[in-house]
Amino acid sequence: MSDKHISGHRMTKREFLRLCGAGISLIPAASLMGVPTTVRTQISGKGLIKTRGAAYFTSLDKEDIQCGLCPRRCRVQNNRRGFCRVRENRGGKFYSLVYGNPCAAHLDPIEKKPFFHVLPGTTAFSLATAGCNFHCKFCQNWEISQVSPEDLYNHDLQPETAVRKAREMRARSVAYTYVEPGGSSFTNTCSIRAIWQ
Ligand code: SF4
Repeated sequence: MSDKHISGHRMTKREFLRLCGAGISLIPAASLMGVPTTVRTQISGKGLIKTRGAAYFTSLDKEDIQCGLCPRRCRVQNNRRGFCRVRENRGGKFYSLVYGNPCAAHLDPIEKKPFFHVLPGTTAFSLATAGCNFHCKFCQNWEISQVSPEDLYNHDLQPETAVRKAREMRARSVAYTYVEPGGSSFTNTCSIRAIWQ
């Protein structure tokens, strides 16, 4: 994407304030904020969409699992989940319940992210999945961070599709945001996962 092309899509002050005022967008809100139809139609309804074998864990005795994805390092018994609610032990095998299944997909001004002068004036395609490995009492996104994926409406939006959507929507980056994403194989809140020129 050339600079000329990008500069043609810089936000006005009015657009920026409107996006900021929208705050976090759960799927119904996202549909009102202009997320493309192709994203909206991928809503599969409330609950789990897909599960996927998890990465970053160690098998222990008695079918227990030691998760190694985040510093909590939960020891998860069979038929139980970790602290984040989205990594589950099923008979000694570990699964992510949210990989490729974000509950929020939204265009944000990059200025909402905790960065300083990263692609100023552009938008970031922002994704979040249910659950979180923190329980902060002040969390403004508690409606998605403190629940299980079964409690929310989720997209079937695999990584390659997310990048394609981001490009179609002329976002310059993909950001993982809104929750601390323990279960989704991403590891840092508000991390920028992809930036293109
Ligand atoms: S990612 Fe989830 S299951 Fe794994 S250690 Fe962190 S909180 Fe526990």
